[in-house]
Amino acid sequence: MPDKVAVIGAGLAGLSAAITLQDAGVDVEVYESSDRVGGRVSTDVIDGFRLDRGFQLINAKYPEIRRLAIMSELDFITATPTVDIAVGDKRYALGDPRSHPFSALNSATGKLSEKVSFLAYLTHKSKVGLSVEDEMCSLGQLYTRVLKPFLTGVFLTSPANVDAISGKEIVRSFITGKPGLPSQGAGTLATVLAKRVHNINLNSRIDSMSQLKEAQIIVATDLTTAAQLLDIPSVPKLASSTTWYHEVPSDMTQSSRLLIDGQARGPVINSIAISKMVKSYAPQGKTLLSSTTIDVASESEVRRHLALMWGRSTTQWSLIAKYEIPKSLPIFGVGSAGAQSARISERVFIAGDYRTAPSQNGALLSGRLAAQELLRN
Ligand SMILES: Cc1cc2nc3c(=O)[nH]c(=O)nc-3n(C[C@H](O)[C@H](O)[C@H](O)COP(=O)(O)OP(=O)(O)OC[C@H]3O[C@@H](n4cnc5c(N)ncnc54)[C@H](O)[C@@H]3O)c2cc1C
Repeated sequence: MPDKVAVIGAGLAGLSAAITLQDAGVDVEVYESSDRVGGRVSTDVIDGFRLDRGFQLINAKYPEIRRLAIMSELDFITATPTVDIAVGDKRYALGDPRSHPFSALNSATGKLSEKVSFLAYLTHKSKVGLSVEDEMCSLGQLYTRVLKPFLTGVFLTSPANVDAISGKEIVRSFITGKPGLPSQGAGTLATVLAKRVHNINLNSRIDSMSQLKEAQIIVATDLTTAAQLLDIPSVPKLASSTTWYHEVPSDMTQSSRLLIDGQARGPVINSIAISKMVKSYAPQGKTLLSSTTIDVASESEVRRHLALMWGRSTTQWSLIAKYEIPKSLPIFGVGSAGAQSARISERVFIAGDYRTAPSQNGALLSGRLAAQELLRN
């Protein structure tokens, strides 16, 4: 059993590693460069609006979330399993066929045969060397109007850039999952986990391993910092994104569903009146709209596109904040291998979503695996 372990980074990977080590009786010291825990999963409150650092949903059925048994502490609000697709000046709902069987029959969101083929796609094993798009492009309009824009919002890059095998795991987790948000924001996931960790040092940036006295170290920073600290030779590409938060008139929509554009008429990949889904995201009587882009875009381009998607004028909207996240997600390109050993040397192990999957589950899993490997060594 190691005397003491340092964990660098208090994102989901670092917190999961620290909890695993502590549970095994190890003394852990976490060092976090920023003034709060959570990394990419955190929430600001500005003028009574709750703003997540980039639009994201938490899947209550993620295996690592279940394993940590934290759902009862999140005051979790489940999202509706239906998305709206804007086509022309209309919006069509497409839902989980188990709860919304008739929405699957609407031909504006793809032929019924394409929807049946999609179910077959989910059960088949994916082939090596293909992208998610390679496997889905035969799905016709279901792919171009629904799946492509929806999945671009999930991967924060085109499905053409994502490996078919690892991509399918993520697609499946969305279809069978239970997405939603804590009433106080996505960041609650991290703050609840952090309460379980005894020693977290905030505002403690580590620039070199020589700063640390601990016998062993888990580096659970973002990929770029880990590559600098450890001289990692090859790293996956990173997707960037920007989430725009507007206050909009409360009567603009009563829908709490995610809206995507079936015709790719602009830079917005998805938009949601997030305070219609989780009331506490806006002060009473106000409505918060969260919209995400992945390409460089001006606010006027974003507004022009949102006006088309929502079928509403944006003149009364006001921009509350804009979150530019240059290192949003690692891109698991075609042929990218799954996680190898987390051990870099006798003393150092690594964790982070870039090791496993570009998701909260991937980050939590990578932290646990690194800690378990350290314990075994
Ligand atoms: C816009 C967006 C949308 C997303 N949507 C979803 C979604 O819907 N569903 C989903 O499952 N996942 C989603 N994700 C992915 C998920 O948020 C991430 O995969 C996960 O949070 C990554 O956690 P991590 O611990 O690996 O890294 P990070 O969160 O990046 O944590 C790294 C931590 O290390 C700290 N650090 C960095 N350098 C140092 C240093 N030198 N010294 C000390 N500390 C340091 C950082 O401050 C940070 O706290 C989304 C991500 C983004 C950005």
